[in-house]
Amino acid sequence: MRTRASIAVTICLFAVLAFLGGAWHFALQRSSRVCPFSGREIHPQTRALVTIGGKKYETCCVRCAIIEAQQTGMPITIRKVAAFDTGKLIDPERAWFVESSNVNLCMRMAPAVQYRGRGSVYVRTFDRCSPSVLAFLSEQHARAFSALHGGTLKRLADLQAESTMTTGTVQRP
Ligand SMILES: [Zn+2]
Repeated sequence: MRTRASIAVTICLFAVLAFLGGAWHFALQRSSRVCPFSGREIHPQTRALVTIGGKKYETCCVRCAIIEAQQTGMPITIRKVAAFDTGKLIDPERAWFVESSNVNLCMRMAPAVQYRGRGSVYVRTFDRCSPSVLAFLSEQHARAFSALHGGTLKRLADLQAESTMTTGTVQRP
C-alpha cells in the first residue's frame, strides 16, 4: 500500500514539474520573440502579422516584412499591425501609417555595432527596418505624431504598392 501511495505521489510530483516547466518555457518564448527576418527582438508597439508567399509570420515591423516581399518577389498580405500608441493589434485597412519619422523602435532593439573596446568608423548603408512605419488607429493621432517626429502619412494601399517595387538585383558573391 505504502509503495503504491509513494508511486502516486511521485507521479503527481512529475506532473506538476512538467506543467511548471511547460509554463516557464511558454512564458520565456512569449517574452523574447524574435523576428524571423531581422533577428531582432519584436517590439510590442511595432509588431506585424503578415503572410508572405503563403506563409504566416510575426515580424518586428511592417518595413521588415515589406523588404522581405521586395527581396523575394513574393506577395505579401499585412494581416494585423500593432498600434504604436496602444500596442493593440489592429486591422491595417483602418490604420494610418507614419512612414520615415525619426522614431524607429526596431533599430533601438539592437545596437548598430556589437563590438567591445576600440572600434573603427562604421557607416550603415542599409537596415531592413528603415525607414520606420508606425501604425495608428486614428488619423488625428498619426498627424499629431508626425507633427512632432516628422514622416509622411500612408495608408495600407501605399505600403502594398511599396512591397512590389523592385530594389534591383541582389548581388551575391
Ligand atoms: Zn523591424
